[in-house]
Amino acid sequence: MSAARFPSTARIDLEALAHNHAVLAERAQGRPMIGVVKADAYGHGLAEVGATLLDCGVAYLGVAQLAEAFTLREALPQAPILSWIYPPGADLVAAIEAGIEISVPAPWAIEEIASAAETAGTPARIHLEIDTGMSRGGLTAAQLGGAAERLAELEGRATEVVGLWSHLVRADEPDHPLTAQQTRQLIEAGETVANLGLHPIRHLANSAGLLWHEATHLDMVRPGIALYGLSPNPAVASAEQLGLRPVMSLEAPVVSVREVPAGTGVSYNHTEQVGPCRLATVPLGYADGIPRAASRRAEVVAGRRRKIIGTVCMDQFVIEGEDLEAGDCVRLFGADAPSADEWAAHCGTIGYEITTRIGPRVPRRYSKGSHENR
Ligand SMILES: *Cc1c(COP(=O)(O)O)cnc(C)c1O
Repeated sequence: MSAARFPSTARIDLEALAHNHAVLAERAQGRPMIGVVKADAYGHGLAEVGATLLDCGVAYLGVAQLAEAFTLREALPQAPILSWIYPPGADLVAAIEAGIEISVPAPWAIEEIASAAETAGTPARIHLEIDTGMSRGGLTAAQLGGAAERLAELEGRATEVVGLWSHLVRADEPDHPLTAQQTRQLIEAGETVANLGLHPIRHLANSAGLLWHEATHLDMVRPGIALYGLSPNPAVASAEQLGLRPVMSLEAPVVSVREVPAGTGVSYNHTEQVGPCRLATVPLGYADGIPRAASRRAEVVAGRRRKIIGTVCMDQFVIEGEDLEAGDCVRLFGADAPSADEWAAHCGTIGYEITTRIGPRVPRRYSKGSHENR
């Protein structure tokens, strides 16, 4: 990949990823972990992040869509993979043949899985999703009994229920009682299926559950965001306070500079007038995932902190540019720069959205150690 053709870089520090894994593994006290790598590993790169997490010792890699699972399977032939989103009619035969474990998000999926397993000639390894409060996926309390009876009939022939799981709604609010209620509900669902002879691994804890609710840890934990060095809720504890290190650092060189006189309007609609001063242009925009909401608010680092001036365009934005020259490095977020969580606060969103939306025009460059090749 020629650096000259790509004006920006997302540096991915795989050593920081391994460090964050170690921090979370200690919290999990020996329980196995599903490393969540959906959405191209929150924008960090599916194959590289997946391989690093496997080296770290995760039990599974977790993705949302089956398409992501197939991509991951090609990159990592031996990885245990769990996928939890697919529509009716999905190619479950291929999933079973590829050794991908699949979730059961609704009753319709049971018969589709059973018939796919018959075609594949192998039982499907499945994780039963329980709706304990998200009201989004999983079996409701009314659906569980019938589904569990059917699965008990199919067990060992068409299906093997290896997991039982649910998703936390408000674990990023450490004092909220819903988390304990959801945990109880999943434990009860485990008892229901145990009465039918099924003994799956129970997993519930996302990053917030793992960090702030020990009772949610159950048999296996399932963190995502904290692996990438961001806090599930910076208002509760910053990533730094949690001992986590940013994995993605986004940077780009200045592509042009200019001296402007007093009262100079900058960027579309002249939402800001500045001068006399020097301006510098950074070749990243909302097409790359830089939120337009960051206009006039977020800060970058080039020698020191500098504000974005005017609106973020599709491909570029302008910063205060005193002492800067074309080619100087501008760091948007990550190591030695504001955190993605700080960007999120400026943009009215969450850190997850900042890294996940960094687009395919930004090449990822992988290193072990954030100061390499700078
Ligand atoms: C995204 C996701 C996770 C990880 O959540 P974080 O808040 O990033 O730790 C865990 N489980 C499921 C089902 C998810 O969709």
